[in-house]
Amino acid sequence: VSDAGTRLATDPAPLRAWVDELGAIGADAAGGTTRVAWSPALRAALDWLAATCARLGLAVHEDAAGNLFARWGPDGDDAVLVGSHADTVPQGGRFDGALGVLAGLEAVRLLRDAGYEPRRAIVVAAWMDEEGTRFKTPTLGSRAFAGHDLSALAGATDADGVTLADAMASWGRDVARLPEAQGVDGIAACLELHIEQGPVLEEAGVELGLVTQIAGLLGLRATFTGTAAHAGATPMGRRRDALSAAARAIVALEDWAAGREDVPVTVGIVEVLPGGFNVIPGECRFTIDVRAQSEQALDAAEQAVRAALADAAAHGGVEHAVQRTHRLAPVPLDPELTAVLARGAAREGATTLALASGAGHDAMQLAPLVPTAMLFVPSDGGLSHNPAEHTSPAACHLGARVLAHALRELTS
Ligand SMILES: [Zn+2]
Repeated sequence: VSDAGTRLATDPAPLRAWVDELGAIGADAAGGTTRVAWSPALRAALDWLAATCARLGLAVHEDAAGNLFARWGPDGDDAVLVGSHADTVPQGGRFDGALGVLAGLEAVRLLRDAGYEPRRAIVVAAWMDEEGTRFKTPTLGSRAFAGHDLSALAGATDADGVTLADAMASWGRDVARLPEAQGVDGIAACLELHIEQGPVLEEAGVELGLVTQIAGLLGLRATFTGTAAHAGATPMGRRRDALSAAARAIVALEDWAAGREDVPVTVGIVEVLPGGFNVIPGECRFTIDVRAQSEQALDAAEQAVRAALADAAAHGGVEHAVQRTHRLAPVPLDPELTAVLARGAAREGATTLALASGAGHDAMQLAPLVPTAMLFVPSDGGLSHNPAEHTSPAACHLGARVLAHALRELTS
């Protein structure tokens, strides 16, 4: 293997300028970036990305699911895809997703400027709606690309009652044509760089994370049902307060999860009914999000969660029901492709740590179908989904150079 194309520029400024330019699109009053799926802000971001890719001489294409692809190199169905998502959570940061897209683009720019010519194509991808906050449709774009049947999602509505079908129509897209976004047959491998979104790399003092797998995910919805009654006229000993029983359950779940490092449990949505200042809550509904690194750990966690809910309901004298809303098995990433990233990191003299991802990513939709690997760069303070999300310019650029080495190895 010739060394042409390996002497990569190390100036982090151009990549940082891209991060700042893209981050300014959808800038919100909280000082963060808000680009939810099918919004004008995300449209503007994809237009900016398309123009930036075109300036670098890449062939830009947007598919039926709103995924944007920028291709460098020859035709063929053995392209190496590199990218992440361009959407954000409401009041998110500039790095979650966007850095993965821009680092892929920077890797292409570095290789091109070093005189490298790929023998098979490198495709920079920006996936649609990874976050899924607007329609509860996470990884919509990568799922469509992977060929999943998404027809059940057409009627999904956002908080304003807009349907996914209408939101897609506002971009000139037809929800019925989502199947046309299936494109995984055209790629041979997939790389995704992402911020860690947690504190592990920073606390270990390590520069890069090599992701072994993406955590399994369990979603439950609990309903506690007591009796709505007058706040003043009902003696304390005669109440069936659904909220106080649920509160006991939520604290018990936290205590259970705090006793073990490996299974985070989160109650993220709580609804209290009927919701009156002077009414004892008759019903409380809440969601439970459980992550684990093995099927067995997910099974054990589900049992423990259900037992804690039953105990708290019994203690409060209320009825309860638990419904499983989703369950995803842990997704292992490809060890050989991960080794390619590791060799790239070694070329840069970078320190690495193998770690599992607690968060879901587009890569988990591709990994069952094509060799897929992920590279993490540290998140300052472990912070993400927050306007203060940050990764240093040097750390971002190191990640981009490692991608470049990996892409060169995979396409020469
Ligand atoms: Zn992300």
